[in-house]
Amino acid sequence: IEQSALMRKKHGIHISGHNVPAPLRSFEELSSRYGCKPFLLRNLSELGFKEPTPIQRQAIPTLLSERECFACAPTGSGKTLAFLLPILMKIKPGPGDGVKAVILCPTRELAAQTTRECKKLTKGRKFYVKLMTKELSRTGDFKKMSCNILVSTPLRLDFAMRKRKLDLSRVEYLILDESDKLFELGFVEQIDSVVKACSNPSVIRSLFSATLPDTVEELARSIMHDAVRVIVGRKNS
Ligand code: ADP
Ligand code: MG
Repeated sequence: IEQSALMRKKHGIHISGHNVPAPLRSFEELSSRYGCKPFLLRNLSELGFKEPTPIQRQAIPTLLSERECFACAPTGSGKTLAFLLPILMKIKPGPGDGVKAVILCPTRELAAQTTRECKKLTKGRKFYVKLMTKELSRTGDFKKMSCNILVSTPLRLDFAMRKRKLDLSRVEYLILDESDKLFELGFVEQIDSVVKACSNPSVIRSLFSATLPDTVEELARSIMHDAVRVIVGRKNS
């Protein structure tokens, strides 16, 4: 416990919440502590990721412990990998079986970028990672489509749920990335309908953000129970 506190101090990690898991010392610890499959560690190393960033050190063990996470860290601090790694470690790849993870992004560019990053990390494993394009949201046959991880903007996801019967009831991880931007852009209603559609009682919801406006704090309080709050750096950098 003392060691965890020292490591958090060293990396500027501030936490609140009860029973917060120990921060990661290294990516290798993912296999010794959490049984991470070799393909993922290999991909990390091929991508040149040697050491976890501060937000990764605390957010990854939090999500792996199946705790909801409210994470705030500056732009460029590696938040994407902080939610992708636990998802890739926890969900099973393969066809059929429904959508297991939803990543909601404020813009199409960010959604496309996140999809690319996710695909790079899945090299060597047959994960079905899908970007919700305009075409897919309008014509997708979601009952027949294999999709383990779905990345979308709120409008397209909401459209697909209403008009194409996209079923999110088996989602295990719901990530709201750049939740501050999601608010600024006025997607409150769509977020609400996505949160409701992810109706699996054991779904893990998570918010990632670069700043912490009151709107985000309020959303965190309203949709998460017993979340671990992780802040790296200043509150509004
Ligand atoms: P954020 O979402 O916090 O703005 P990103 O997830 O987009 O940041 O990451 C910023 C950059 O840092 C990306 O190019 C990403 O590939 C790189 N990156 C992420 N994690 C690591 C790591 N552990 N080591 C080195 N580079 C990393
Ligand atoms: Mg980001």
